[in-house]
Amino acid sequence: MNVRASRALLFESFAAKTRSLAATRSLGLSMLGSGYQCCYCAQSIAEVGDDPVSIVLRSASDPQASQHLWAHALCVFRMVRSAPLSLVLPEQLEMLPRKLALQSASPNEVVLPYLQVIEALEIYARARRRVLGWEAWIRKPDGSVGHSDAVPGTGDLSTLDVQQAVTTCRRSIDEAHSAWNNSETDPGTELLFCVTIDSA
Ligand SMILES: [Zn+2]
Repeated sequence: MNVRASRALLFESFAAKTRSLAATRSLGLSMLGSGYQCCYCAQSIAEVGDDPVSIVLRSASDPQASQHLWAHALCVFRMVRSAPLSLVLPEQLEMLPRKLALQSASPNEVVLPYLQVIEALEIYARARRRVLGWEAWIRKPDGSVGHSDAVPGTGDLSTLDVQQAVTTCRRSIDEAHSAWNNSETDPGTELLFCVTIDSA
């Protein structure tokens, strides 16, 4: 597809309630390897409960030409300001204000910088949702993000009650944030916090 042709493409998107393989086949959608690949971020979206969204590309010059793609709901919101309001994000992101969710470094997990993750924890605590723990991600100066073993995070907090879990998580995040800011290693690399909560 050349640039001019791609500019001429119109698209429509709809929340894919068509997650079963049978439904996928009936729509003529292709599977990529063992799962779906997001057309925006190129990450796999196979194991995400409420994703993916199906995107239909249509050619303005050839009404017969169309192609189905997949995307994370969050990636659609990132890329298309007028994304359909009915699109639903994975639950722990959907619980957050959209502006906050859009700051997640992952389209299907809550991966936020320090101040934003504290805000998210407060929202989960108010909703009485159990925090299961956090693990460290880093964002390098080139913008790449990924897990990091440099900072331990918490273990599984599921044996604690809701309040104890969020308090433990918060304290541990505070400590890791301070330690990271006071260390000389990896200047320009940002510590991010991947928080997991119990499913409702
Ligand atoms: Zn994506």
